[in-house]
Amino acid sequence: MLAPNFYVAENFERAAHRRKDEAWLDARRTDPKTLIVPVWRARNLVALGEPPVALFPDITLTARFGEDPLIFLGETPEHPYFAWDLSVIDEAEAQDLARAYAPSAEFVDLRRVGALLPRRDGALLAYARGVTHWHSRHRFCGVCGAPSVAQSAGHTRLCTNRDCGTMHFPRTDPATIMLVTDGDRCLLGRQKVWIPGMYSTLAGFVEPGESLEQAVAREVFEETGIECADIRYHSSQPWPFPASLMLGFYAIARSRALKVDLEELEDGRWFSAAEIRNFANTGFTLPRPDSIARRLIEGWLAELG
Ligand SMILES: [Zn+2]
Repeated sequence: MLAPNFYVAENFERAAHRRKDEAWLDARRTDPKTLIVPVWRARNLVALGEPPVALFPDITLTARFGEDPLIFLGETPEHPYFAWDLSVIDEAEAQDLARAYAPSAEFVDLRRVGALLPRRDGALLAYARGVTHWHSRHRFCGVCGAPSVAQSAGHTRLCTNRDCGTMHFPRTDPATIMLVTDGDRCLLGRQKVWIPGMYSTLAGFVEPGESLEQAVAREVFEETGIECADIRYHSSQPWPFPASLMLGFYAIARSRALKVDLEELEDGRWFSAAEIRNFANTGFTLPRPDSIARRLIEGWLAELG
């Protein structure tokens, strides 16, 4: 068994079978041990410092702002956890709220601090960010356009139009991410918006009617003109930026001549393992340490020895 990726919550009971049990949920909504994972405009509450610390206010927070539904995330042996979207408050209020918990606290983008947080804290912040994002984008029924309301402790939304009554479930968009190798070389690309010098694995969303392996082969060919085979699953990673599940693969190149699609990538090239190991001295950088992309690259380097 591989160790889990960043943003996977280990030893965390989602208690999905309790999501319709109102008495059980009410006991947790009023339990002083319950902790809240607040989300403000897709940002998480973190005390900045070295290292940063995720802050989990107690349930009294929810008495202060509005009536937004609490989303039950699950529990550890010590604490039940609920996500709560505070996006209705303005920036100054959000800042005051954060400061009330710690002088250095702010609502920050998880990508800024995720790799530095304890794994389970990072996973809870990612989970809360992902599920609140889904609610924020599905306030109306996609079938008939009527308002929808949260149900099942925030894990479904029901259309309020009785003639429709469609139940909507949280979306996770599957995205393949792959390291294509050719002996001791691997294929990396870069997008214009990335920090200068950063090269990473190729990636792309799975289309309807397509298998994961087909998506890997199609994306690699579209972006770089390389044909690949021996597509091998590695691991998966929740990636709530905003709503992806990354599915990591290795693939072996069956052709070598690059034809980079410059609409998708700014550049794509082969790097030898030695070049990648020397990245820090040559102005190149690898992807973020909390990303599955980084893990695929480092896993391949380790296999080469
Ligand atoms: Zn509807």
